[in-house]
Amino acid sequence: MAIARFKALEQAQTRTTVPVKLPTEKVAEYYGSMTFNDEVMRSLLSPEAYLKINTAIQTGSKVDRDAADEVSAAMKSWAISKGATHYTHWFQPLTGATAEKHDAFFDIVPGSGKAIEKFKGSALVQQEPDASSFPNGGIRSTFEARGYTGWDPSSPAFIMENVAGTATLCIPSVFVSYTGEALDYKTPLLKSIELIDKAATAVVKEYFNRDVTKVSPTLGAEQEYFLVDEALFNARPDLMMAGRTVFGHAPAKGQQLEDHYFGSIPPRVNAFMVDFELEAMRLGLPVRTRHNEVAPAQFEVAPTFEEANLACDHNALLMDLMTKVASKHKLKVLFHEKPFAGINGSGKHNNWSLSTDTGINLLGPSSKPKENLRFLTFFVNVVKAVFDNADLLRASIATAGNEHRLGANEAPPAIVSAFLGSTMSRVLDDLEGMKDLNDIKLEKGDNVYLKLGINKIPSLLLDNTDRNRTSPFAFTGNKFEFRAVGSSANSASPMTILNTIVAHQLFQFREEVDAILEKGVKKELAIMEVLKKYVKISKSIRFEGNGYSDEWVEEAAQRGLSNLRTTPEALGVYVRPASIELFTKYGIFNEAEMHARYEIELENYIKKVQIESRVIGDMAINHIVSTSLKYQTQLVENVKGQKEIGIDPQYFEPTIELIKRISEHTSKISRLVDEMTEARKDANEVEDLATRAALYGTKVKNYFEDIRYNVDKLELIVDDDEWPLPKYRELLLIR
Ligand code: ADP
Ligand code: MG
Repeated sequence: MAIARFKALEQAQTRTTVPVKLPTEKVAEYYGSMTFNDEVMRSLLSPEAYLKINTAIQTGSKVDRDAADEVSAAMKSWAISKGATHYTHWFQPLTGATAEKHDAFFDIVPGSGKAIEKFKGSALVQQEPDASSFPNGGIRSTFEARGYTGWDPSSPAFIMENVAGTATLCIPSVFVSYTGEALDYKTPLLKSIELIDKAATAVVKEYFNRDVTKVSPTLGAEQEYFLVDEALFNARPDLMMAGRTVFGHAPAKGQQLEDHYFGSIPPRVNAFMVDFELEAMRLGLPVRTRHNEVAPAQFEVAPTFEEANLACDHNALLMDLMTKVASKHKLKVLFHEKPFAGINGSGKHNNWSLSTDTGINLLGPSSKPKENLRFLTFFVNVVKAVFDNADLLRASIATAGNEHRLGANEAPPAIVSAFLGSTMSRVLDDLEGMKDLNDIKLEKGDNVYLKLGINKIPSLLLDNTDRNRTSPFAFTGNKFEFRAVGSSANSASPMTILNTIVAHQLFQFREEVDAILEKGVKKELAIMEVLKKYVKISKSIRFEGNGYSDEWVEEAAQRGLSNLRTTPEALGVYVRPASIELFTKYGIFNEAEMHARYEIELENYIKKVQIESRVIGDMAINHIVSTSLKYQTQLVENVKGQKEIGIDPQYFEPTIELIKRISEHTSKISRLVDEMTEARKDANEVEDLATRAALYGTKVKNYFEDIRYNVDKLELIVDDDEWPLPKYRELLLIR
């Protein structure tokens, strides 16, 4: 019998719901209680220091030494009062995970042997972890691997509980090399946020609202994930090593009944959700909705949107937290984009907009025509930016995991297009078809908006029937939703790109409008003229149809849209001269950083495919072929026995057929695994990273499906008692 599998199954089936200790206080009392937030700072800091910190948060200015010393002292006593014994700079290196290096607060007074608690301003502002074991794409050679983490005052410090009631003060930080190059996701994100503030504020202030002094990108990241019982997870080497199942026959009941979506949440899962949400709330993460997703065992959590930097930190923190809390419930969270073949994958829908310091959502339509011109301005500029930079957006979400998802079951394809909805499509069509703006004669007392036809945009576009789940980039009434982002991604990467391309577009827009204004044209007409031009240019990026269909792939090709299917192809966009020019122009990345990122992502890709390939080889030979041959021997014995006692051969013919099929599949598997290993060897010998990645993505990866096909066939033949791996129906049935 397959002992490991059945032991795991028994464990999974006899699990009970882990009780969650609910707080006695009201939400308002514990929400953010583990964060060094504005309220805490106000109460603990001198008015001068508080003001300095606040200015730093608002404007990105540096915090001086005195203020840093005061903040660190306050932070320390606050953290210790909350049970923290250590502190760490918490940062997001390009490995994709978050990183921390804990230092104790206490120190020994030299000579006296006495312990004192110590945390200076300098330690708050900067920490020096060894950068050599984080990916740096050749920026630093290992022997001089020094990197610095630096405090980001705009994201509140927080306390994470560790085991046994101890806790650590976590200080959100950037991570840069000794020579100043960014080694993390946060650094370029912060730069892009500053850039889009500059670009968008100029447009709003100049043309619409004089009182606006700041524009911030906002992000609400809907997070999809799967849950699997811990014991079953541990019985699947592929889940453990690659985060996804490389084999597994589709279950008799998958998602075809569509009864899981928004269905009732299983009690054990519900307990897990309540538990991590409580922890999240204490850390000031505004988690708001929870529900089942389309696939069995798939779920979603969505927060209320926040300023983009905070939202990115919070999403990364949420993922950490979920992983941690899940183990209490004997569950494993799968953030992989495609953990199960033939079933929906997981994304992280990045809802993005722009918000002014006066509270205006710049992508929110309004009932006032004047405000609608502003809305239209931002709306059209975003569409134009997506049209011009579709390939960069594609690159920003390119990973090995997302490659399995994009273009597969129920997921947006690798083609970037924008869905606007019927109302906004009509508005843009009307705008395009409008007569030449030079011909519009404005009389004194005319309503310019009426003449321009933009008094008609309904103030509420949040119509749920007008949604398109198949689009990678969709307008959803008052924000754009970048849906092609992978579930395991760090949102900072797509957000950095989106902020930058939209900022670039807004700078261009202002130049063009100003040029027309200089000719003495009325402002509204000048704006409309440029928007009309943009609508014309960017038409081919708009697509309202079914993005999952094969016809779209063909049509997109005819329209000249790119379809960068593989990750290495997509990553190549980063090092195109035009991309480098764009990002270096605004100082978001320098050239070395762009090359470094490109290399790091290629390396990540190679490693992931390599691991998958090895896992496939090991499991196919050591688990599947060996088990199948053992079972085949039993069948052979059986047939021999039947023969011996004189059973009519017609009755054991089907068994002989099974024996043959086992031989056929096992021999194919053995041959394919050998060939795949050779392909890996060949690829490893290639020096050039891009070529090696491409080889892994084609020559090596091409074997995955064939091997899987044969393994999945064997799953249907071999005695269930002997099958070594938990099956899909077992993994996906979560109680
Ligand atoms: P759905 O898209 O499923 O209808 P919601 O409209 O509630 O759900 O929004 C989904 C996500 O979009 C939530 O995280 C929400 O906070 C976020 N969101 C809403 N408005 C904005 C905005 N102006 N900027 C960024 N995100 C937003
Ligand atoms: Mg949504």
